[in-house]
Amino acid sequence: MTNLKVDVTNLKKNFGDNHVLKGVNFKVADNEVVVLIGPSGSGKSTLLRCLNRLESPTSGKIIIDGRDISDPKTDIDLARQNIGMVFQHFNLFNNLTVGENIELAPVELGKLSKEEAAQQGKKLLKAVGLEDKFSAMPQSLSGGQKQRVAIARALAMKPDIMLFDEPTSALDPEMVGDVLEVMKKLAKEGMTMVVVTHEMGFAKEVADRVVFMADGKVVEEGQPEQVFDHPQNVRTKAFLDKVI
Ligand code: ADP
Ligand code: MG
Repeated sequence: MTNLKVDVTNLKKNFGDNHVLKGVNFKVADNEVVVLIGPSGSGKSTLLRCLNRLESPTSGKIIIDGRDISDPKTDIDLARQNIGMVFQHFNLFNNLTVGENIELAPVELGKLSKEEAAQQGKKLLKAVGLEDKFSAMPQSLSGGQKQRVAIARALAMKPDIMLFDEPTSALDPEMVGDVLEVMKKLAKEGMTMVVVTHEMGFAKEVADRVVFMADGKVVEEGQPEQVFDHPQNVRTKAFLDKVI
């Protein structure tokens, strides 16, 4: 694989006696969209959280954009600026307007002036279909709208990789489509993405590669048609029988 964006080698993560990641190897190429699937508790969130050091690995190596994330000497704040993350529960600042949520990081980190950040914020809101919500408070938005704001906020730092951890799992069914549309558009524009999701339709349509994790390991991976239609591993088969 050329132009590796993410290169994870033999990643282990223990929480006390709980060995959650048991030697994960995981690569993502530039512009690639990888959908990560697997049973609850298999370590998907922990893997994503290790990628931007919300968790520190017990052992193993994580290289992102040529930076060794697992090296304590790496400036993790700088590395994180290039990694956008979107969570299941949005995590918007409810005391700030939508616009302020989006402006915050680039202004605080001295990337943009307040005016530039506002201008960019409006553009990003337009891109996620919420141009009229700049001055709105998060509480006044639906879940799907909040999640699209969260995506716009992550994009405000111009990340070159986006991590999504079950971005539509907390949404009412009628909200899911709008959020997936925004993600599809991002993928088409060439964003490198790692997406944990149970939306198999999205995976089939958008993923370049599907990675199946079980019990702290990557068990199987391949193109969506290959993994969904011809799973090789019994655990992949059992999982897909349940979710599809
Ligand atoms: P998934 O996202 O695939 O459902 P997780 O990565 O969230 O799986 O969790 C895998 C395992 O790690 C679970 O057993 C969970 O209880 C444990 N775990 C995750 N985060 C923590 C934490 N901060 N402290 C202790 N245990 C954790
Ligand atoms: Mg999870």
